Amino acid sequence: MAVPKFKTSKSKKRKRRTHDAIAPTNLVPCGNCGWSIPMHRICPNCGHYRARGKGGARTRAVIAQDEG
Ligand SMILES: [Zn+2]
Repeated sequence: MAVPKFKTSKSKKRKRRTHDAIAPTNLVPCGNCGWSIPMHRICPNCGHYRARGKGGARTRAVIAQDEG
């Protein structure tokens, strides 16, 4: 098994880890109720989903209205 010849320095380790941060989630307002939701997700507040496809705005649909 290969073994590192030298100890990784704090500087080297920290420089490598500068790219490890998790990017913040891109939130967009829901087209129906205005809640901040991640793109391409059904709105947890109103169930609205803006589907892509021919017609653009005409394909907007409410997938699931409040069940209950
Ligand atoms: Zn909504």
